[in-house]
Amino acid sequence: MKELSEKQRVFFNSNQTKDLSFRIKQLQRLKTLLLSNQNRLNEAIYADFGKSPFETFTNEFGLVFLDIDEACSKLKQWAKRKRVRTNWINFPAKSYIIPEPLGVSLVIGAWNYPYQLSLAPSVAAIAAGNTVILKPSELPSNTSKLLAELINNSFDPGFFHVVEGGIDQTTALLAQRFDKIFFTGSTNVGRIVYQAAAKHLTPVTLELGGKSPAIFTENAKLSIGIKRLIWAKFLNAGQTCIAPDYVLLPLSMKDEFLQLAKKEIEQASYSIENGNYVRIINDKNVERLKSLIDQNKVYFGGEIMEEKRIIHPILMQDVTFDDAVMQEEIFGPILPIITYESLDEIISEIKKREKPLSCYIFTGDSAVKNKLLSELSFGGGAVNEAIMHISNSRLPFGGVGQSGVGSYHGEAGFRTFSHYKSILEKATWFETKLKYSPYSEKKLQWIRRFMGIS
Ligand code: NAD
Repeated sequence: MKELSEKQRVFFNSNQTKDLSFRIKQLQRLKTLLLSNQNRLNEAIYADFGKSPFETFTNEFGLVFLDIDEACSKLKQWAKRKRVRTNWINFPAKSYIIPEPLGVSLVIGAWNYPYQLSLAPSVAAIAAGNTVILKPSELPSNTSKLLAELINNSFDPGFFHVVEGGIDQTTALLAQRFDKIFFTGSTNVGRIVYQAAAKHLTPVTLELGGKSPAIFTENAKLSIGIKRLIWAKFLNAGQTCIAPDYVLLPLSMKDEFLQLAKKEIEQASYSIENGNYVRIINDKNVERLKSLIDQNKVYFGGEIMEEKRIIHPILMQDVTFDDAVMQEEIFGPILPIITYESLDEIISEIKKREKPLSCYIFTGDSAVKNKLLSELSFGGGAVNEAIMHISNSRLPFGGVGQSGVGSYHGEAGFRTFSHYKSILEKATWFETKLKYSPYSEKKLQWIRRFMGIS
């Protein structure tokens, strides 16, 4: 690990990554590599948890390709030095800001979107001119192995290299000195990463998780809202960091909601065989999810095929904030529904808990929408939609509080991996004596007068 990080530092110090055309060439090389190995990449993720080529393209590579294309077309603009106005104190001078790469970066990925969550931060790091050591999650082992093979055979290890492994390898990596660490994963491991980074004062971005609510209000358009909600919840079998974790619903809407949600799940035809569904990542998570289900509250679904690691979508009704399913991020295909009578009451319940990564507001009332948007704090979200905010790269993506630190995608990703160097460039044809000693009462009066202080 030490040798690799030192090799990357030597590469970074060679200044090759400062050249924008070098960065664009590497991003295009990555895109070509991924496109020319689509079949193998599809097979690897299918072997890991049954993800179909359709979802592999739309939820993994599609987003990475959009990021690569946007970075290639906007890089010149993002990397440009920006002039800012100079204040009178510094007259005559120019002031400008130069974006510069941070240096050697470490990207640690999560398992649930193993390509996207490893590659999208790497794209941002490369676009901003950094070198990258990528540590994908070890849980989808076929995916991690193939990423290592393809990237390590195509890129100079001093520039972009994959290190495979779990806790031991990540711990050894975290002991090295990096200029930036970008971590995607759980809040608990995020704390470990933050502590390791503190030793070297390395800046970090932490993309973490949490319990993201979906709030329906009295006049929400139920049919379209439920269609979007169910799709977002059960995509990837609920193993999505920004999946709606639970629903808050006016009591008066309960029966209609449950019937429509059940119908929507049936119509979606979730099955591994037809490519519309995926497995739970491992046995440990199947066990964990089983422990969150209260059979007395299951309204619909719940078929579990343990040996195949398949849990079919489950709707739970009459759930309270005290139930087991409400004590941790679900990260699986269980949708608890909590009914409420007063919006203020649920606002206060959400505020008692950690700030979520996302929040989804289903409403037809703009006053209610604005009230929720202004009173609740969360990473990002959507109105009358769920999870699709991730697909607009102009919206910085990230959490707040326990759900994350920092953001990325599009220009936000470039900024995350950059330092903005501020420069004051002074002219030499003029100087005043005001700031120099010997000081005098007269000089002070002039300074105060310039500043508008009598
Ligand atoms: P995880 O925290 O268990 O693992 C993430 C990474 O950390 C892996 O690469 C793993 O090898 C490494 N790791 C695990 N334990 C470690 C330790 N003790 N020391 C050092 N490294 C360690 O998370 P996960 O199970 O892969 O992902 C699930 C979590 O990630 C959920 O909470 C989910 O919400 C969150 N997540 C967040 C985002 C986001 O963009 N905000 C995206 C996906 C997942």
